[in-house]
Amino acid sequence: SDPGAFIRAHIRTVPDWPEAGVMFRDITPLLANPKVFRVLIDQFVHRYFSPRPDVVAGLDARGFIIGSVLAYELGVSFVPIRKKGKLPFTTVEETYELEYGSATVEIHTDAVKPGDRVVLIDDLIATGGTMMAGRRLLERLGAQVIEGAAIVDLPELGGSQRLRDSGLPLFTLVDFE
Ligand code: 5GP
Repeated sequence: SDPGAFIRAHIRTVPDWPEAGVMFRDITPLLANPKVFRVLIDQFVHRYFSPRPDVVAGLDARGFIIGSVLAYELGVSFVPIRKKGKLPFTTVEETYELEYGSATVEIHTDAVKPGDRVVLIDDLIATGGTMMAGRRLLERLGAQVIEGAAIVDLPELGGSQRLRDSGLPLFTLVDFE
């Protein structure tokens, strides 16, 4: 009856992937089990049912899986924020630093309207760089990011704290060290 524990029990840890020393938190077992998937989505639906956002924006790629289902359930728009080079229409982009190198994400310029209230969702927050870049894109288009949401937070990496310190409220379901 503890949804957090139930969800946590269906996340698989894969050591040394994609490189030595990384403990990858794999959410595919969660998606594969329809009971757990429903419990997972229901956590977000209850959180955002009222007041309802105008838009759910999902971060490439696992943010699309949960974000699109959430938007469908809430009856609101879904907007993808994609890795560079995938979106066909005019875009704005943000580049952010990774441990080695950098990454660029993009959004269509007509994806949100000024004043839209947006929930920004991904599967996991590590350094927070991806969510911060997504938030900047939405804000550059005049939208208001009311909350960042994720299944998993890795608090020891400090990303969630940095996001909160920058004024972005966060809603996450499971912590891993
Ligand atoms: P950040 O930008 O916060 O450092 O990294 C978060 C991004 O990397 C998210 O888009 C997330 O999907 C991906 N990511 C990093 N580590 C993991 C992990 O252990 N498990 C999963 N599922 N995604 C991860």
